[in-house]
Amino acid sequence: MDIIRLLSITDKGDHDQLIKKAYSIKESVIGRKVYLRGLIEFSNYCRKNCYYCGIRSGNHKVTRYSLSDEEILEVVKFAQKSKLTGIVLQSGELSCEDFVKRISALIAKIKKATNSEFRITLSLGEQSLETYQKWFDAGAQRYLLRIETTSEDLYKRIHPDDDLHNFKVRLKCLEYIKEAGYMTGTGVMIGLPFQTIENLADDLLFIKERDIDMVGMGPYLEHADTPLYNYKELLMPVIERFNLSIRMIAVLRMMMPDINIAATTALQSINPLGRELGLKAGANVIMPNLTPLKYKRSYLLYDNKPCIDEEVDDCLNCLENRVKMIGEEIAYNDYGDSIHYINRK
Ligand code: SAM
Ligand code: SF4
Repeated sequence: MDIIRLLSITDKGDHDQLIKKAYSIKESVIGRKVYLRGLIEFSNYCRKNCYYCGIRSGNHKVTRYSLSDEEILEVVKFAQKSKLTGIVLQSGELSCEDFVKRISALIAKIKKATNSEFRITLSLGEQSLETYQKWFDAGAQRYLLRIETTSEDLYKRIHPDDDLHNFKVRLKCLEYIKEAGYMTGTGVMIGLPFQTIENLADDLLFIKERDIDMVGMGPYLEHADTPLYNYKELLMPVIERFNLSIRMIAVLRMMMPDINIAATTALQSINPLGRELGLKAGANVIMPNLTPLKYKRSYLLYDNKPCIDEEVDDCLNCLENRVKMIGEEIAYNDYGDSIHYINRK
């Protein structure tokens, strides 16, 4: 497959044809089903300072928050009542002993509250193998750690040059996650300043070579209070970033028919129907944001994040209709584990 050529398509007819082909693969392998994972952005405290991210530690305009275990369990209850089968616990990156212990205890509480009938996905950044293992043994089954970009040069340009932001460590962490036994998820940002089509093709090859089970990738979107904002003149127009992201999903679906691919919130930021278009290009997972309204405004990774003024009930109702509109169905009460993971185990 000529990945670079497919990613570089400019003709609308060719673009549509690619999308159609990818969707037919998704339809035959996974069906007309969409899996939901409730996303809880439970804390924006972060020790890192990634140049692209609105909640980086250096952004002092952010009001820091952390949900209590009780507040998180309320969201979990709501998710279960809404027939969701799992949640994603996401936060800034911390690694102190208190945090590690808190997460282990929280996983145990969620398991207890849900009779162990709930899939817990973690997205808590870089940790030691020991920590990943602890959390896996406590009952988390999936872990998402985006590599962000597989070009070490580009990685260095979008992160501070220090031990906390080390490309090789991030790579190692992905290995640890797999070694610990998790369904392993990664992904990249698309349309970063300095990024080339060749970089993105390499990203897709990396995902395939690493035998990844789940992918969440979407457009890079700028945030005015971040260092990368200074390079906004170098960015391609958002609509191109959007279309390129859609083609990335489509090409990946053709390369890996049985993995789970998320249609990300960032797609929706550019186009109100962005997630639906992601599904039509071969994605099969949506992560509705269940973070309580009062905290959503403090978890702004990029400007113009969508749905930050919407109550979660409205969010879910609206999603159900939107999914129906494109001829797909939400697979309630279905774990929707990555078929790829089941096959490789
Ligand atoms: N702190 C953890 C980590 O970095 O892995 C998890 C939370 S972090 C906010 C989740 C993801 O947000 C990152 O992996 C990154 O890809 C994405 N992100 C951050 N800033 C972004 C931006 N400006 N545009 C698009 N995605 C962004
Ligand atoms: Fe922290 Fe993750 Fe944002 Fe980096 S991307 S600053 S680790 S929350």
